[in-house]
Amino acid sequence: MRVIINRDSNTPVYIQIFEQVRRQILSGELLPGFRLPAERKLAESLGVNRTTVLNAYRELKAEGLIGSRVGNGTMVLSYPDEELSADNSSREPAWNQIFSQYANRLDSYLVKDLLVLASRTDVISFATGIASPETGPIQALEGIEHELVQSRNFRALIHTPTEGLLSLRQAICGLMQKRGVYCQPDEIMMLSGSQQGIDLAARIILDPGDIVVVEEPTYFPAIQVFRAAGARVISVPIDDKGMKVDVLEQLLHRYRPKLIYTIPTFQNPSGTVLELERRKRLVELAVKYNVIILEDDAYGDLCYEGHLLPMLKSMDNDGYVIYLNTFSKNIYSGLRLGWMVAHKKIIKEFSSAKQLMDLHSNSLSQWIVERFIENGSLEAHLIKTCNEYRTRRDIMYEALSKYAPKDLIWNRPKGGYYIWCRLPDGVSASKLVAKAADYKVSFVPGSPFFASEQGDDHIRLNFTFAPMKDIDEGIKRLCVAMKELLKEKGNDDYSMTEINPIV
Ligand code: PMP
Repeated sequence: MRVIINRDSNTPVYIQIFEQVRRQILSGELLPGFRLPAERKLAESLGVNRTTVLNAYRELKAEGLIGSRVGNGTMVLSYPDEELSADNSSREPAWNQIFSQYANRLDSYLVKDLLVLASRTDVISFATGIASPETGPIQALEGIEHELVQSRNFRALIHTPTEGLLSLRQAICGLMQKRGVYCQPDEIMMLSGSQQGIDLAARIILDPGDIVVVEEPTYFPAIQVFRAAGARVISVPIDDKGMKVDVLEQLLHRYRPKLIYTIPTFQNPSGTVLELERRKRLVELAVKYNVIILEDDAYGDLCYEGHLLPMLKSMDNDGYVIYLNTFSKNIYSGLRLGWMVAHKKIIKEFSSAKQLMDLHSNSLSQWIVERFIENGSLEAHLIKTCNEYRTRRDIMYEALSKYAPKDLIWNRPKGGYYIWCRLPDGVSASKLVAKAADYKVSFVPGSPFFASEQGDDHIRLNFTFAPMKDIDEGIKRLCVAMKELLKEKGNDDYSMTEINPIV
């Protein structure tokens, strides 16, 4: 049984113990019959009060996960106490016996909530990571669909190989070459979004108990995927030059992880770019410590200033880097189309797993995107999109300069989708979510992006999705909500702009 106490966390220590032991029981790490350490012994080893352990064990008992028998101590139970589940009035299945250990590890509610929020028309949403509806590739797509129907292209509606349409993979070789990666179609596999690539990596590379290193903060659905696979996620801090690779080396040495997940370019959520020397060192470290890098380049094309740095994949001569990209951020996410570039041995394993999952990615989307690339629309669309997103970023940045309370800190990312903000002391992101909802504006609080229990002092603001005309107004409302929280905290320095909550 492994328990690690985070003394900087806001979560009470007994809950930390409860949650960690619960996770290990539900994941099958601690099997029925496993004897838990005596309360006093565990308290001593963790350096906490005995009552703290007592409270944690009480919670586990209340869920029917553990039980005590005189002379036998406290043990993991095979299923919840019958007394607890003997509710004869309900004929529903006993859910805790129905779902798999994998299902019990799932935790994807925030993403679902965000997708619901994005579809509400009464809220100015800075919460999602969705492309602008205003950049207009829909017109170009309409022409392509027409062309497919005209040419009676029946093949657009039947199966493709699991790896994807060959002509699309050839077109992607061309895109990769422009960014310095010389690959063949058999080193590419189409994905149903790059999220699928992260999930496949977890299935193919990780076993329960393996260790994954991520940046902190990072794209939180990746953390969720790795945890659902039963892996342990440890994090490396970032600074304004991206992942701190010197800290990474210490972790590689100590923990020998199987996988490093990184977003080197216009990182989600922080917008940072991993500097060149660190990129080189990262690839060297992967070779030295025999660990695979999962390079997520979802925002790599969306550069508003300066030049793009070489991808990690372009520095990888030996097959240590799995490269992921997607058409979600530069065309539309509903196409559900992304791709991976990797060593042929990796493609083979990933395609076997993908075949079991969905046979292949959507054929029509693949035909449409192949045409979109080949007729030059993608290149033209990217220029237009980058221009629009640069303007959107600047509007949001300027609005923050106008309305922000004095201690709010925010960045000016050179690309990507998000502005990352540190809140003034005394404003908690989770409280701000509720306050901002009164003013009909949404964003994502920082904590899900942290694998450790931090981040409640940060928020992520997306500038690509809300109507451009609403960005200034949305930031104004958000800043009023922040100032209200500061006022409630007793800080009268903050004058309030006249604005009414919209409830
Ligand atoms: N990686 C990152 C960093 C992302 O931000 C996202 C979407 N928000 C994804 C992967 C998944 O994108 P999709 O599955 O739509 O390609």
